[in-house]
Amino acid sequence: MNLFSKIKEVNKIAAELAPKFKKLGLETISDLLFYYPFRYDDYSNLLKINEVTPGTMLTIKGKIEMLESRRSWKRHMMITEGLISDESGTVKVVWFNQRYIAKILNPGDAVFLSGKALATESGLEFHNPTFEKVNKYDNFTAHTARLVPVYSATENLSQRQIRFVVKRILPFCPQIKDWLPEEIKKSANLKNLAFAVRQIHFPENEKVLEDARFRLKFDEIFLLQARARLMKQELLLERAQKIAFQKEATQEFVNNLPFILTAAQKKSAWEIIKDLGKSRPMNRLLEGDVGSGKTIAAGVALLNALLNKFQVAYMAPTEILAEQQFNSFCKIFEKYNFRIALLTGANAIIFDCQTQQKKEIKKSELIKSLSAKAAGEPSGETVAAKADKLDFVIGTHALIQDKVRFHNLNLVIVDEQHRFGIGQRKELKEKATDNAKLKGFYPHFLSMSATPIPRSLALTLYGDLDLSVIDEMPKNRLPIITKAILPQERGTAYEFIRSEINKGRQAFVICPLIDPSDKLGFKAVKDEFEKLDKEIFKDVQVGLLHGRLKSAEKEKIMREFAGNKIKILVSTSVVEVGIDVPNATVMWIESAERFGLAQLHQLRGRVGRAEHQSYCFLFTESDSETTVKRMQAMIACQNGFELAEKDLEFRGPGEVYGIKQSGFFDSLKIAKLTDWPVIKAVKIEIEKIFAADPKLEKHPAIKNEIKEFETGVHWE
Ligand code: ADP
Ligand code: MG
Repeated sequence: MNLFSKIKEVNKIAAELAPKFKKLGLETISDLLFYYPFRYDDYSNLLKINEVTPGTMLTIKGKIEMLESRRSWKRHMMITEGLISDESGTVKVVWFNQRYIAKILNPGDAVFLSGKALATESGLEFHNPTFEKVNKYDNFTAHTARLVPVYSATENLSQRQIRFVVKRILPFCPQIKDWLPEEIKKSANLKNLAFAVRQIHFPENEKVLEDARFRLKFDEIFLLQARARLMKQELLLERAQKIAFQKEATQEFVNNLPFILTAAQKKSAWEIIKDLGKSRPMNRLLEGDVGSGKTIAAGVALLNALLNKFQVAYMAPTEILAEQQFNSFCKIFEKYNFRIALLTGANAIIFDCQTQQKKEIKKSELIKSLSAKAAGEPSGETVAAKADKLDFVIGTHALIQDKVRFHNLNLVIVDEQHRFGIGQRKELKEKATDNAKLKGFYPHFLSMSATPIPRSLALTLYGDLDLSVIDEMPKNRLPIITKAILPQERGTAYEFIRSEINKGRQAFVICPLIDPSDKLGFKAVKDEFEKLDKEIFKDVQVGLLHGRLKSAEKEKIMREFAGNKIKILVSTSVVEVGIDVPNATVMWIESAERFGLAQLHQLRGRVGRAEHQSYCFLFTESDSETTVKRMQAMIACQNGFELAEKDLEFRGPGEVYGIKQSGFFDSLKIAKLTDWPVIKAVKIEIEKIFAADPKLEKHPAIKNEIKEFETGVHWE
């Protein structure tokens, strides 16, 4: 037998339990060894019976003097009572409803009992302690008298059963190959992998446990960072078409904008433009708080690609956003000679800047046009009948579906939350050009995100990307006034909305759920809509928006809200990401405790997008400590990066908006994205190893480990 033998081969009991382990995804001995406990019960304090004090976690070792089971009719349960003694004294022990105890333990047995003693009228007693028979030949306890591991289990599989099998397979630990080079272990002061795995299950003491944890966490963070570095390195070897900087045209474009770009926007745009000028594919993340103006910063770079006669694709996460970005780009580029298209599940529209006309066409036609070349262009494989080349296409994921091919796509922009893996990127490379001369080139990539991921985290998560940050808001913005509203202030708040509407402004009302749900007491959009539409704002146009509406309906409502026909938009959090209606000044959030801080901040970012003073009202009937803390943070803080740090602190990285979706989270069994000392130690070693061996050619064991790590994770 070896590490890769099946659990069912271990022994008879393991064979019986094997199907239950399989439910946890554990089939081999190795699987189970790498299934770490999530906490420990500290039963290592071994005391004499006369030293026992009530209320502390401890273990005693003694002989069973008597043991008796009886049914208590009054209390409807089986009661097993016993007396345990050692040389210092005797203590009473009671188990409730654990009939099997009397079958396993017998008077005369020597046992360990772990738990807390209770002071009762008749003296100290142990109730339901964990027990383990003393084995003369084996002094290795698994359930008592030590730091005892606690695993996440399924129903039907008990902690005792898991520990029983794990104890049996510990002798296989020495077979675990350590893939980290000795130099790294020495310089980062790491234990051997086999030792760490052995100790993570049944640690000798707290100190050793800490060492084991550090080693295993190091491995996970190391693999995350090494993977990102390798991807970056691989991309460095790929070729891309240079996009020449059109200086004068860019200046003219910027001068014609209705506003002045912020210094941060200029800097980011310039970083992108410089990347585009290289013959290596750009792979950059543009990060900026909600409303910081990422669209136009990307637009400046985009213009350069278009002026160089390359195609650009822009992917948005939802249809609403795709349509909104389509409309704003049509405006931004109206003075140019581009053909801009919108392609989503529901829509296929072409805007011709020259004729200023938008027209709907068949999806299949639009897709055909994407691979068509313009008149006078060097011959590609596709020969179009007329010069109906599309320069710029905006859409949802529909953009990279199977049938779509491009004539000469050279810049891909991905807005909000999407992540591209190596696989998808290669696919896109295949699709990018039907132009024989351009075959084999990667398009340049720009991701945009309003998820304010702290830089420290970004390093671990997005180590494969270069980072541009817009860390400054346009000058014309006033801080958004944020208030937590008490139930009795609701009426006054409605009056306030009315006064804003009378001034010509608009309001969002956000509710967490679509259907009424009395049980949970959350505000449901439909209910709220009815109430506002039929009662409180009878004379005002109120709209309803949620994810279950048909796209056409959603669009119609968004259009009416953007056009100031609808004054109050009652919505679920579908408006959360990216929607831009500068005339809206009130963001009213019901059941605010249901949203994370970063999400609340995203919602708040839907207002205050122009020169009007804007407001964010938070409604919550929960006065739990965390809710109060979070509402206070929202009121005190306008900066998305700071709020993200707070969210990390309050709720842990799994809840930070965007990280859970990124797939990274599942890859970490033991490390946390906030394990700064580990992250720091890893960074030092990564720098060293990649400086000496950029493609990890001399470290096949690490490469192999990265590959295995990747297959265990859903990256996209
Ligand atoms: P986000 O970064 O959230 O994607 P947008 O790009 O949608 O933000 O920009 C938000 C709003 O700010 C838009 O209406 C845009 O026209 C406007 N805007 C962008 N840059 C500036 C600027 N430098 N000065 C004034 N308004 C700007
Ligand atoms: Mg945006």
